[in-house]
Amino acid sequence: MERVQKPFKKIIVTIDGPAGAGKTTISKLLADKLGYRYLDTGALYRAVAVAATDRGIAVDDDLALESLCRDMVIDLRSSADGLRVLVNQDDVTGRLRTPQISMMASAVSARSVVRRFLLTVQRQLGEQKGVVAEGRDMGTVVFPQAEAKFFLDADPHIRARRRHEELIVQKGERPSLESVEKQMLQRDHNDSTRSLAPLQPAEDAVRIDSTHLTLDQVIHQMLDYIEQIQ
Ligand code: C5P
Repeated sequence: MERVQKPFKKIIVTIDGPAGAGKTTISKLLADKLGYRYLDTGALYRAVAVAATDRGIAVDDDLALESLCRDMVIDLRSSADGLRVLVNQDDVTGRLRTPQISMMASAVSARSVVRRFLLTVQRQLGEQKGVVAEGRDMGTVVFPQAEAKFFLDADPHIRARRRHEELIVQKGERPSLESVEKQMLQRDHNDSTRSLAPLQPAEDAVRIDSTHLTLDQVIHQMLDYIEQIQ
């Protein structure tokens, strides 16, 4: 992408949407383009899921989850090969993106003790403006005051195909497309029907359907909007 950006005043940009809509790739590119930090909040829920799994905590055991969160320090570090996630100084990055942890993250994310804990962590991480925050409730709950909010969606089959490809190329796994789609739809259902901070567009979010758009086209639409509101 050749577009040269004028310096922008530092704002908070939120990108919410279901799994496989392209949030991660787009958030990283946009943050890069704007010279902003990138905040992957799904990684925080995944980190809690890894820690809960390691301690054998049942997903509905709120007391154990509360104590887990109390003792937990999550550290997000940028490195040459991308974001690294440390839980109590233990690097768990390589364990975050398995199908099991995806489902566990979705399950723990419905628990209020976990959401409360991560709300504080996320707000601290976004305290200084100049951030692109990606997740499910960035524009609705975590940063309702964000100046630019986007809701990124795409056709479910396309999203499943993208996620399937990603698992094959990046993880060397060979799940069937059907199993990836089934799990993704289950996670979407959990995330959008839970009572706490369900996945939904903020009223003032710009909705973008990326089904027939290239990455560049999505980024251009976002930059146009951000330029407009300066
Ligand atoms: O974005 P990612 O797929 O990594 O997120 C993993 C899970 O974490 C989601 O399925 C969702 O349940 C949860 N999540 C959330 N709120 C966020 C980010 C992620 O509930 N802001």
